[in-house]
Amino acid sequence: MRIVLLGPPGAGKGTQAQGIVERFGILHLSTGEMLRAATQTETGIGCTVKQFMAEGKLVPDDLVIAAVNQRISQPDAKPGFVLDGFPRTISQAVTFDDLLRKETAELDHVIELRADEKILLDRILTRAQEAKDRGHGVRADDNRETLKVRLEAYKEQTAPLIEYYRSKGVLRSIDGLQPIDAVTHDVFQAIDK
Ligand code: AMP
Repeated sequence: MRIVLLGPPGAGKGTQAQGIVERFGILHLSTGEMLRAATQTETGIGCTVKQFMAEGKLVPDDLVIAAVNQRISQPDAKPGFVLDGFPRTISQAVTFDDLLRKETAELDHVIELRADEKILLDRILTRAQEAKDRGHGVRADDNRETLKVRLEAYKEQTAPLIEYYRSKGVLRSIDGLQPIDAVTHDVFQAIDK
């Protein structure tokens, strides 16, 4: 089973992806995590990625697509995966369709977690502050200025994917601002249908 989770930063994609992993036993692939790992290397690509992420901007499509292509072609990804944070542009979605076609694979579900932007900004900043208070690390891009850029990038570059997938008949939209359990319930229902 191959699932894409769509939604703005802070809508709960990571949390819901975890629930899907536990229930369906498929891989969780987060491009944010993959790219954060790439920034730990002292390579030119690592530095480029770091800069885009620090500014809240999308990393160039070719770099992200190469990372996803490499990951989904590994044997453990064959039974399926839930992608969190990819695709994020129409160009990524079109290339992803081509990659799947080559593997004679299909996307089974695209689940959109809908959430109001103004609520998200406060939600992420509160979450970051609480993590800090507990002595946990906080993501470098979870600050007000960078978040505004990330939300803008979602609106301009990622939100058009909603229509893209709706026209393909694979999209299900869920209210991402419900309590976590209620969102999970709706996500499972969308997948089971
Ligand atoms: P996330 O952890 O999904 O919130 O992603 C954190 C950051 O990683 C984003 O703000 C982007 O800079 C970068 N990123 C993650 N996924 C993608 C993607 N599919 N395309 C471009 N940039 C991405």
